[in-house]
Amino acid sequence: MPESDTAHRSSADRAARPLAVVSNREPYLHSLAEDGTVSWSPTTGGVAVALDALMHERGGVWIAHGAGDADRLVVDAHDRVSVPPDAPSYPLRRIWLTEAEEHHYYEGFANEGLWPLCHVAHVKPIFRAEDWRAYQAVNERFARAVEEELPDPAAPVFIQDYHLTLVARHLRALRPDVRIALFWHIPFPHPDQLRICPYRREILEGLVASDLVAFQLERDRRNFLAAARTELGAKVSRSRVYFQNRSTTVYAVPIGVDFDRIQAVTHGPELEAEKERLRRELRIDTPLVGIGVDRLDYTKGIPERLDALDRLFTRRPELRRQLTFVQVAVPSRSKLESYAAVEGDIDQRVAAINARHAGDGLAGGPIRYRKSALRIRRLVALYRLADFCIVSSLHDGMNLVAKEFVAAREDLDGVLVLSEFAGAAQELGDAVIINPYDVGGFADGLEQALDMALEERQRRMRALRRVVAGRDVVQWASDILEGLEHLDPRSMPAPPGSAPRKAPSDTRIVSTSSPTAGR
Ligand code: UDP
Repeated sequence: MPESDTAHRSSADRAARPLAVVSNREPYLHSLAEDGTVSWSPTTGGVAVALDALMHERGGVWIAHGAGDADRLVVDAHDRVSVPPDAPSYPLRRIWLTEAEEHHYYEGFANEGLWPLCHVAHVKPIFRAEDWRAYQAVNERFARAVEEELPDPAAPVFIQDYHLTLVARHLRALRPDVRIALFWHIPFPHPDQLRICPYRREILEGLVASDLVAFQLERDRRNFLAAARTELGAKVSRSRVYFQNRSTTVYAVPIGVDFDRIQAVTHGPELEAEKERLRRELRIDTPLVGIGVDRLDYTKGIPERLDALDRLFTRRPELRRQLTFVQVAVPSRSKLESYAAVEGDIDQRVAAINARHAGDGLAGGPIRYRKSALRIRRLVALYRLADFCIVSSLHDGMNLVAKEFVAAREDLDGVLVLSEFAGAAQELGDAVIINPYDVGGFADGLEQALDMALEERQRRMRALRRVVAGRDVVQWASDILEGLEHLDPRSMPAPPGSAPRKAPSDTRIVSTSSPTAGR
């Protein structure tokens, strides 16, 4: 066999190799209804859907926290269940957490500590020793489960996000040769900010136990390299960290969306009917529609968005009869004070704006506020209904909604109004870029979107679509996994300063219609 064929085959073999995906959130969740039936639902959100598709293709195992109240009822003796439940394709291994563990590991350390540490949104991070202890214990449990479940000794392990920073280190102790990649979905803080965290060194040591760590943006990558140097005293080259006789490759690989799937939804026969249904349900009878779609989180800049809309309706009162703004906000982490506070704040602002800009025979005011998740078909219909979509994050790793909106607009219409503080703004320069802290400038951006000529809307949307189609989520996953396959962690570390590698561009079970919130 010619050498090139061998090379081709070995790379194809690698691509087909089963995979271990590790995440806090499970891709499918089982819940118990009052009548005793068990239903299941997929987790919403682009990342879960994309990784699920990858698992269908490659096989392997997904390891995640079993968070559904009926999750235990459907697993086998090894805590595994085949998913998707209606067409089994791969095993999901569930990890059980006590209520106290969930409280300290997930709500406490991950979401009251690390989440605000990594997002510049003016919510003080809280680090408690008891949360840290639970976080350590849970990460160790995940590592043990991965070790038990590894489909074959060479199977790559793909860990997701800030909940699981210590898994690689524990796993490496159990299986020194395992290949591990971790993707950090949120911003990585500057070393000055990272210093707030009393456990930063342990976290960095956990992260560099992976062979490959990937971030959304170059800025995050640089912050991580700087932190490894200053906090660990590690040697750092342009794209590697050398620490305790190992090297870790560090990439920036911005995540994309499943462009083809979203586009396929827009081609479905149901799109127009779905748009009409949404119009009826949301009582939209104006010619213009604006939308915002977010997890209910203080990082998303929803109060700032409402202030800008308030300013817009004040400046141009005629818009009260012409424009409806639909805000979808999916409640998440509602037990935390900081989340309850922003939810209350949004409720009040929506009520105040609707009161201020109703009148003159107008019922209800211009804002429609829906606090529950939409499934992909309805979401895409909402994207298509909109004349503009606002993403006004105060800080965001990427923001998939921005890219999904673009992927849905094959009609080349619709304007994306995008915060400069969303990671997506690095790629989507043809959006109307706004600063959510500048109410006047934000309102100017909304006016610009509303007044934009069709030709310019089309020119911008065409350019945005080239970017979003060119780097979709399949590409993202393969850049990371191929990057991992091509590394040789046993090789001698290259000298610092060497050229970086380029990222290779009685229970009845029924499906439920209510999706669960991601993250
Ligand atoms: N999403 C959804 N239904 C909703 C609202 C949001 O499926 O009603 C999905 C949305 O399609 C996107 C994800 O939730 O894929 C939100 O991801 P993003 O990166 O915008 O923010 P995150 O919640 O990860 O911070």
